[in-house]
Amino acid sequence: MYGTGILKGMAVVMKHFVNSYLDDFSWAARGGRYYNDEALQVRQGVKGRGVKTVFYPEEKLDVPERFRFVPFLVTDDPPPGQKWGKDWCTSCGICAKVCPPQCIWIERGKQPNGRPKPEPNAFFIDIDICMNCGFCMEFCPFDAIKLDHDYELASYNRTTAHIHDKERLSKPLSYWREIAPKKAAAEEAARNFVEEAKAKKKARQAGDGEPDPTLADEHARQLMYRGDTY
Ligand code: SF4
Ligand code: SF4
Repeated sequence: MYGTGILKGMAVVMKHFVNSYLDDFSWAARGGRYYNDEALQVRQGVKGRGVKTVFYPEEKLDVPERFRFVPFLVTDDPPPGQKWGKDWCTSCGICAKVCPPQCIWIERGKQPNGRPKPEPNAFFIDIDICMNCGFCMEFCPFDAIKLDHDYELASYNRTTAHIHDKERLSKPLSYWREIAPKKAAAEEAARNFVEEAKAKKKARQAGDGEPDPTLADEHARQLMYRGDTY
């Protein structure tokens, strides 16, 4: 019969409408369903009833670990009194090369004798052009560039505020561990594996090490990378 789809749709809308008020009553004793972290989690979960949207920016939802927004640069955790530690970026330029819309600019550092220094002197990303594809992160051999969870980047300035410089881009490792704990742990395990393999190789070359790492070791390392959430 014509119109049954519309009626069914209206019934669903009415159900959510009524449930949103019922939910208000059920959360009343616990501080209300608005501006309440516990209630927010329930509303966004499978047990949520009624209205699922939130009153942004008063209410904000946690984003999942795999969420990706514009990149940032990882540094060591800073020593006391400082904002950043040592840059992980070696200014190799791979990210700038693979970036599809070409929105990364890097100026390599220089030693006093004029030879290149493995750290960036300047690093810029045009966030208006960045499409959050994550290629830079995937291709960086040093785990030095990551996609951020900070999506509140609106500004009244349409020019310079949208070109993020090195200072704006740099964030300590502890920040990356906080927003992407599983991915950070998998990367750390892989890095440790590589360091151990290097140490073993050195020991072998010195004549007192174990035999070569087996294919099983390599397979385990690859699994570790695949076990991440991306
Ligand atoms: S690929 Fe990584 S190390 Fe190389 S320039 Fe980009 S962020 Fe720096
Ligand atoms: S996320 Fe993609 S578009 Fe953005 S800087 Fe990285 S490679 Fe370029």
